Amino acid sequence: MYKKVLLKISGEAFSGEGKKGLDPQMGEYIVNEIKEVVQSGVKLGIVVGAGNLFRGEELSYVGPIYADQIGMMGTIINSLYLSSALKKHGIKSVVMSHVTNLPSVERLTYDLIEETFARGKVAIFGGGTSNPLFTTDTAAALRAAEMGAQVLIKGTKVDGVYSKDPKKFPEAEKFSKLSFDEAIKLDLSVMDTSAFALCKAHSIPIMVIDFFKKGNFLKSVMEENVGTILTNGN
Ligand code: UDP
Repeated sequence: MYKKVLLKISGEAFSGEGKKGLDPQMGEYIVNEIKEVVQSGVKLGIVVGAGNLFRGEELSYVGPIYADQIGMMGTIINSLYLSSALKKHGIKSVVMSHVTNLPSVERLTYDLIEETFARGKVAIFGGGTSNPLFTTDTAAALRAAEMGAQVLIKGTKVDGVYSKDPKKFPEAEKFSKLSFDEAIKLDLSVMDTSAFALCKAHSIPIMVIDFFKKGNFLKSVMEENVGTILTNGN
C-alpha cells in the first residue's frame, strides 16, 4: 500500500462531466472517496484543476497569460471548496499555496507540509505552480516531488490510457503499463511532457484511474492497477 500519495483531480470532478460550477452531489462523492483513503492512514496531498470554473476558450479574449492567472485562481476556489467539504465530514485539511493571501490559505512551506501530515491532515495545494504557462498536471508532479509522494494518482473520467480516444475510436487499445518515454513517443494525451519529466526525474509512478468508479481511488492506493501505470520502465 502506498503511504504517501498525491491525487490530481480535474475541475470537472466538482461539476460533473461537461458541466460548470460546483455541484454538491459531486462534492459529496469526492469527499467520500477521499475519506476512505485518509482513514486508511495515507498521507495525502491533492492538486485540483479549474476546468469547472474557467475554460481556455472563454478566456481567449484576455490572452493566455491573464487566462492562466485566472485559471490558477480558480484552483484556489476549488481547493477551498474541497477543504470545507472535507471539514463537514470531519476530515481536516490545510489549503496551501504560493499564490494568495486569503485568511484560509496558508503559505506553502516544506515545514507546513510535514506538519500537516504529522497531524493527520490532508494537504491541498492550490494555485498551480503559481506561474502562468504551466498546467495543473505539472503542478501535481511538482508537488508530488516536493512532498515525497510514492505515486501520483491522476483521477480522470477514463479508466486508463488508450492508444486513441476510446470515445471516438472503439478499437482503441488500453495500456495497463507504459514507460514515460513510450507515452511521450506515442504522443498520448495523458499529461504534458513537463509533468512526465518531473515524475521521471524523481521516479514517481503515475497511475491514471477512473475516479468516478466508486472505490477506485482506494484500490489504486492499495497498489491495485485499476487503470494504467506509467513508470520509468525499470
Ligand atoms: N495554470 C497555470 N499554471 C499552473 C497551473 C495551472 O497557469 O501552474 C492555469 C492554466 O491556465 C490551467 C488552469 O490554471 O488551464 C487550471 O485549469 P486546468 O485546465 O488545468 O484544469 P482541469 O482541466 O484539470 O480542470
